[in-house]
Amino acid sequence: IAFDDPTPPKKRNPRAVDVLITEAQIQDRVRELGRQIEADYHGKPLTIVAVLTGSLIFLADLIRQIELPHRVALLQASSYRGATTSAGVLNVNEAFLPEVSDRDVLLLDDILDTGHTLATLVGRMSMQGARSIRTAVLLRKIGRQEVHLEPDYCGFIIPDAFVIGYGLDYNDDYRHLPYVGILTP
Ligand code: 5GP
Ligand code: MG
Ligand code: MG
Repeated sequence: IAFDDPTPPKKRNPRAVDVLITEAQIQDRVRELGRQIEADYHGKPLTIVAVLTGSLIFLADLIRQIELPHRVALLQASSYRGATTSAGVLNVNEAFLPEVSDRDVLLLDDILDTGHTLATLVGRMSMQGARSIRTAVLLRKIGRQEVHLEPDYCGFIIPDAFVIGYGLDYNDDYRHLPYVGILTP
């Protein structure tokens, strides 16, 4: 390793981003959510099930704010909205389905948009024999929901815009940004 490497640092983001929620705001709010979850799940067999890939950063920060014994599981779900499938059809990767029988499940996603993802996954977790199922989202978009689902924990309510950062991607980029932003045209 050359300690005097003259290579200039890589630009973090190729397109300009308008910051919607700052890193400090996210950290404060995640800490508050952690306190709430601790209070609600004290003495319970909690399993946090995070939906890949968008909730990765939220998961990593949130579990470090929860001082309770708990398990972490991941599952992969993606919705196809192409011409060949109807809108909102969710593909859940069976290989990733965690063992949640007799566990209190907290489903974690990055953002609640139409609600199809979480509504479907709540059904799946209940078929797997979970003791209880609650949902947590970092973001909730207003005016977009198509199915009824009231998240039990919500970080921020945001306007109807496509957001990136803090785990959320555009074309698999921008997930690493420590804040949530909107791409400028
Ligand atoms: P829903 O099933 O609630 O319509 O959609 C939830 C999923 O859609 C999220 O897990 C996320 O992957 C994706 N999504 C919805 N809105 C946005 C957004 O504004 N930005 C990004 N990057 N993904 C979004
Ligand atoms: Mg997602
Ligand atoms: Mg995505």
